Amino acid sequence: MNTRPWRPALAKYRINPGNVGAKRHDENFQTIIRVAIEHGKPVRIGVNWGSLDQALLTELMDANARLVEPRDAREVMIEAMIQSAIRSAELAEATGLRHDRIILSAKVSRVRDLVDVYRLLAKRSDYPLHLGLTEAGLGMKGIVASTAGLAILLEEGIGDTIRVSLTPAPGGEREEEVRVAQQILQSMGLRSFLPQVSSCPGCGRTTSTFFQEMAERIQGHLRDRMPEWREVHPGVEELTVAVMGCVVNGPGESKHADIGISLPGTFEDPVAPVFVDGKLERTLRGDGLVDEFIELLEAYVERRYPSSGVAAPA
Ligand code: SF4
Repeated sequence: MNTRPWRPALAKYRINPGNVGAKRHDENFQTIIRVAIEHGKPVRIGVNWGSLDQALLTELMDANARLVEPRDAREVMIEAMIQSAIRSAELAEATGLRHDRIILSAKVSRVRDLVDVYRLLAKRSDYPLHLGLTEAGLGMKGIVASTAGLAILLEEGIGDTIRVSLTPAPGGEREEEVRVAQQILQSMGLRSFLPQVSSCPGCGRTTSTFFQEMAERIQGHLRDRMPEWREVHPGVEELTVAVMGCVVNGPGESKHADIGISLPGTFEDPVAPVFVDGKLERTLRGDGLVDEFIELLEAYVERRYPSSGVAAPA
């Protein structure tokens, strides 16, 4: 009986060279590499500042202390992370793992450190890089910090895979990390996952929260429909929808979206023009306008992204 079914089942292994023991460090590291070779798996060598190889760090700190002008501790820590990743990759290759089966990561918890460590890693090696800010934190703080760090690096062409690590709120969903990571890639125009809704911030021209609720409802509708649409309407993840709060400035933004609606603002006629592919398609009014707009949206998806002929899962 296979007592370690995870070995063949996993798509990729991850080894933290700072966590394989100090005494028989290389031997332990090589044991895992051999298992990966045996099962034909790629390996991410994931260095983490919180569990940095202490022997290597001490060696570099000692060498730094002997310099006439020692560098600051932060620079030595970054150097230790880079050396740990690269030396480990070299040891993995010497053990028999193919060069193209190695991915490197070097996670830190501060945005500036993340940018510096990955810029240097990208300069000094040609392995694919997995980006991520570790211990990014809770909610908005974690999302903003992760986005700030990843966006700088991705914009410079650094990074091949990404991870967003958020501390979930009590009872919160783990999937939020995935949604944030997807949104970063989509906002930067690197990859599309979900149709995007642009909505205005609202201002003195609109006193009700109706358009914000409508934007939320449409975003929810898109999310609910995506599992089926993804199967039968290829390309639908590129769809853009605009929900604007008034007819003074709304139509301009609506025209730039594939389909957009401008709701009546304060003191405006109670009508809501809908633009499709930049042209006025219809004017909606009355209580049922959200449902009517969703119907138009459904019809647009049918027409613009014709069925691939693949049946949606039941
Ligand atoms: S579209 Fe209209 S309601 Fe929305 S922010 Fe602009 S002016 Fe204000």
